[in-house]
Amino acid sequence: FNVPKAVNEPVKSYAPGSPEREAVAATYKQMWNSQIEVPLYIGNEEIKTGDTKKMSAPHDHQHVVGVYHQADQKLIQKTIDTALEARKKWAALSWENRAAIFLKAAELLAGPYRAKINAATMIAQSKTIHQAEIDSACELIDFLRYNVEFMTQIYADQPKSDSSMWNRVEYRPLEGFVYAITPFNFTAISGNLPSSAALMGNVVIWKPAATQVYSANVIMQVFKEAGLPDGVINMVMGDSGMVTETLLASPDFAGVHFTGSTGVFNDIWAKIGTNISKYKTYPRIVGETGGKDFIIAHPSANPFQVATGISRGAFEFQGQKCSAASRVYVPQSLWPTVKSQLEADLASMKMGSPEDMSNFITAVISESSFDKLARYIDQAKQDADAEVIIGGKYDKSKGYFIEPTVILTTNPKYTTMETELFGPVVTVYVYEDAKWTETLQLVDSTSEYALTGAVFSQDRYAIEEATVALQNAAGNFYINDKPTGAVVGMQPFGGARGSGTNDKAGSAQNLLRWASVRTIKETF
Ligand code: GLU
Repeated sequence: FNVPKAVNEPVKSYAPGSPEREAVAATYKQMWNSQIEVPLYIGNEEIKTGDTKKMSAPHDHQHVVGVYHQADQKLIQKTIDTALEARKKWAALSWENRAAIFLKAAELLAGPYRAKINAATMIAQSKTIHQAEIDSACELIDFLRYNVEFMTQIYADQPKSDSSMWNRVEYRPLEGFVYAITPFNFTAISGNLPSSAALMGNVVIWKPAATQVYSANVIMQVFKEAGLPDGVINMVMGDSGMVTETLLASPDFAGVHFTGSTGVFNDIWAKIGTNISKYKTYPRIVGETGGKDFIIAHPSANPFQVATGISRGAFEFQGQKCSAASRVYVPQSLWPTVKSQLEADLASMKMGSPEDMSNFITAVISESSFDKLARYIDQAKQDADAEVIIGGKYDKSKGYFIEPTVILTTNPKYTTMETELFGPVVTVYVYEDAKWTETLQLVDSTSEYALTGAVFSQDRYAIEEATVALQNAAGNFYINDKPTGAVVGMQPFGGARGSGTNDKAGSAQNLLRWASVRTIKETF
């Protein structure tokens, strides 16, 4: 299979005075000052229903950048018919022609659309330019390029034959449509979930998160400009319950590609169970859900490395990553140094609007997220077994700003050691140095989720012990590094337990879920 070798898109620096910084600043300004209407993309139509919702900036919540249109049930039904019609040609198209479209989309994002996708992500998802560049430009480009390579790895996997018989397998698209439900926190994931299934020959109905429609619209434009035929990826917005209910009731529902909360994924799974006898085929259920990701430091760890792991792992991207470090176990002997370094790190983290590119963190996504975080911070200020030792202030007068906050607890099962908060709040538990092994058991037994985790140690035996003891507690396990920032093609990403089906975004294994294999045997 001759395809261009996938390379990871280099992250641009956006240094003051650089052309990329000027380009994104100008695009941000222009987009900030215009109003757009995002239609429903159904087949060759861009539909404006008039039933609209506002899109605004989390760091300046009174600033509206446009509206998106919502579908009713009839339109969702029409989307199913449209997608199935498009499937007739798309499923039969050669893989080279499918691949070329997504490789072109990657090049459009790397070049002409880079400033636009970054500015859109900065404005409506409140990401700094560096966060946007890593996510909406580089990671999405990487997904698009690597998926083509993964696809050819899958196709190359063929059974043995001999002189009397020829065995082969065909990786057919699923029989029906795939439903992609995507989150606000990663533009890259939002682009990957529909496009990976489509690359494998499937037609997709894509519902982006309400707070990410603004950048999803740019992705849709890129797919169109890259030549994606009408109806292959259809983007719909509307009441989530209604959209999901309608799509999951269709006999042609063939799979769901999901990233979002554990609760919503559980509901989807239950609905699929209820509808199971209606479907033509057993649907594929692929989901990446929540996390309560840990950092555990051994007494041999370098305390400065631990502090950096916490400040980057917990607070970059405002902590709005499924992979973000949110519970930390530090031995008593290291804690004073880790704590003072953390104080220094957090004091240097500038918070504010993404428009000022010297800011390191910005606002959280929504009022409900802000209110939830504020509630947990206030609770920790009152509880006897917890205290807020760094940060703890919040202000939603202009934007949803939560100061990077460290809670210290004497209770390893304190609520914020167990509940996913999805924001810039981390909880630390200090353990007695002699209790390393017990602490590993504690981490495992409190890992209802199992997405990411990190161990810091300079002692190989301790690293080995942690690697074994925590083998089921994290799908992505980091040694002497923060538990975030998986790179496509390098660290396939995903977790089990409450964190999802562990079908590893950025891997051939994930793409294989979007194929239905036919085995052909011919005897001579
Ligand atoms: N893949 C990202 C990381 O490794 C996180 C994605 C997510 O938050 O879902 O940090």
